[in-house]
Amino acid sequence: MYLSTRGGSKPISAATAIKAGIAGDGGLFVPDQIPKLSAAEIETLIPLDYQGRAVTILERFLADYSRREIEDAVRAAYTNDKFDDPGVAPVVSISDEIHVLELWHGPTSAFKDMALQLLPQLLSQALVKTGETRDIVILVATSGDTGKAALEGFKDVPKIKIIVFFPDQGVSEIQRLQMITQEGQNVAVVGVKGNFDDAQTGVKKIFNDGEMIAELDKQGYKLSSANSINWGRLVPQIIYYFSAYLDLVKLGRIDLGQPLNYVVPTGNFGNILAGYYAKLMGLPVGKLICASNSNNVLTEFLTTGKYDRVRPFHQTLSPSMDILISSNLERLLYHITDGDKLAVKQWMEQLQTSGSYRVDPETMRKLKETFAAKWVDDRQTKNKIGEIYSKYKYLIDPHTAVAWQAADQYRQESGDTMPIVIVSTASPFKFNESVLSAISGENLDSKSEFLMLDKLSRRSGWPVPKNLAQLEAKPVLHRMKCEKEEMTVAVKQILNYFAKG
Ligand SMILES: *Cc1c(COP(=O)(O)O)cnc(C)c1O
Repeated sequence: MYLSTRGGSKPISAATAIKAGIAGDGGLFVPDQIPKLSAAEIETLIPLDYQGRAVTILERFLADYSRREIEDAVRAAYTNDKFDDPGVAPVVSISDEIHVLELWHGPTSAFKDMALQLLPQLLSQALVKTGETRDIVILVATSGDTGKAALEGFKDVPKIKIIVFFPDQGVSEIQRLQMITQEGQNVAVVGVKGNFDDAQTGVKKIFNDGEMIAELDKQGYKLSSANSINWGRLVPQIIYYFSAYLDLVKLGRIDLGQPLNYVVPTGNFGNILAGYYAKLMGLPVGKLICASNSNNVLTEFLTTGKYDRVRPFHQTLSPSMDILISSNLERLLYHITDGDKLAVKQWMEQLQTSGSYRVDPETMRKLKETFAAKWVDDRQTKNKIGEIYSKYKYLIDPHTAVAWQAADQYRQESGDTMPIVIVSTASPFKFNESVLSAISGENLDSKSEFLMLDKLSRRSGWPVPKNLAQLEAKPVLHRMKCEKEEMTVAVKQILNYFAKG
């Protein structure tokens, strides 16, 4: 069963939690107990493929879903035509101690696919299980990667519509093209004249607009969200922490039972939190290293115990980590305090009212048992991309470079030389300008995206991911734009349009 981190919700099923997204008291849903896998059970997963491992792990958390339902969901999500690697999330060993978990082989070339291919399946099933009669309208505000991954995941899923708002000037050209060429009968994409915060604020306003919600209800619609606070986005991410470990055992690179460190480029704390769940389940995880860019609010928190979002916001080369409020940290605080809902509620209220809070020394001690944290600036990020390419002929995107640099710093400063998995979250081709200029030293400001994709591919010998290569020839299907004050009107117009077919 699932509870709110702030204590204001009675226990509900996984399907209900996935349909609701966020708890009524503003908290996040967490499992009331963490399922454990024994060493013997973990051993039985070694010969299985990604899909088989996924079923075993998901089954433990989704008690109200049948095995058959979970198998169907997994089969629909992780298919060979959507993922361009048969292993779905392959591990590449750079040396005996450094391994890279590539999470970007999905349909949009970013790690969000790992969760957003499965969430629509789980949500569709949840609608049936909870007897929902209304259609669901998913609203997304995106700074780039989430919007496209959500569109791909939800396109043509029955009973669900999806509307994505992106900042007209705030996404990369590739990200914009990925979204405005999106196919599907149930999708809409709108450019908001403003920045990401404007889009995000607009979406939040709609979620809190009682009149709008009542009107939608009358028309047979219920609003929902696909962002990373939904349990249905977190649970799929636990799978790949196991899968990476199991692959390394299978290949004889580590022994079963031997601990591994993981370094994770972090923004909203969703990805790294899934690693923490894997550890609580019994996976031999040593340290989880939280890697940040110049928006280093998490580095400060995990080293000093003070979370302080009152600081300048930096636009960096790793934009998916340009975040000052890491929503999923709330779940970590809940588990690390053994479910002290009162403390979590107080900290979150302090964050809301004064912009900061400080955890107690005992909580800090427990955090430090598992977590380390480092931050990396843009110059180091670029240097790392260049260094890794010249040493190993291996291409990494800026987010992965932040993680790699943090890993090196951690290993050097701590003397902890345990084997480490670098969690790689985007294809280098998705950030081809930064990557190409880092490995070539050229200034590329005025080059077209498609020239750069081609150039990066020729230079490295790596193929351009199919979804990005096809982008140039795709027709633009979404031209709608709106002012930031007009987002509610835009939603109404789009739903009318859907209703007319
Ligand atoms: C979303 C994203 C991240 C951050 O993941 P969180 O779960 O928010 O910590 C890192 N890298 C890339 C490429 C992303 O798209």
